[in-house]
Amino acid sequence: MGAQLKDEFINYCIECLPEYVSNLSKTYLLPITPVKLETPINFSGNPQGGGGDRPDGSRQGEEGTGEKPQGPPPGGSEGDEKRGPSQRGVAFNGVAFDAPAPLHIILKGYTIPPIDDAGGHINLDSGYHYHAATGKTKEEAQNDHHAPMIGYAMDSHGLYGQLNEDGKEPDDLDDCRGHYDEVRGYHYHVDAAGNNNIINCFSGATASK
Ligand SMILES: [Zn+2]
Ligand SMILES: [Zn+2]
Repeated sequence: MGAQLKDEFINYCIECLPEYVSNLSKTYLLPITPVKLETPINFSGNPQGGGGDRPDGSRQGEEGTGEKPQGPPPGGSEGDEKRGPSQRGVAFNGVAFDAPAPLHIILKGYTIPPIDDAGGHINLDSGYHYHAATGKTKEEAQNDHHAPMIGYAMDSHGLYGQLNEDGKEPDDLDDCRGHYDEVRGYHYHVDAAGNNNIINCFSGATASK
């Protein structure tokens, strides 16, 4: 069970070039109006978040390729039904902030998938996607020294940079990394670049699982 690394990829820097996925198109569904839930949607019981990365380089549906990014896990419980999409959000350029990269598989195989300055890289299932927000994508500056808006979470609540202009992370973030203010309503502050994480759960309903 779970994704396995094929022997030929162990001990390699795994390069996936843009031209490998030049004809890939992704459509993300977001609610028109965010709907806050009483209970947040946890991504998965798996600490790696059930992400879209499969470092064996195989294509979805191919024999023996392990995890399917958005399918229900074997023996899934009711809780798994509510875990939401594997993407955490979308940047203004349409590129997804994805689930954490599966470090347990990557490290076990001594492989390094290169991540660019924008916190992104490519795989065959997801195409180009981000694992971090590094300030290289379009940002909507705020007038009140609040962190800039960088996109939308998949529950349509706003995604903002980790730090406000004073260089500090808000101290009232909830378990999902969200909080409320009068200007923006409920919104998230993304995790620090390097933590292999964007947000921790969805406080609102998502349009797709
Ligand atoms: Zn990835
Ligand atoms: Zn805030």
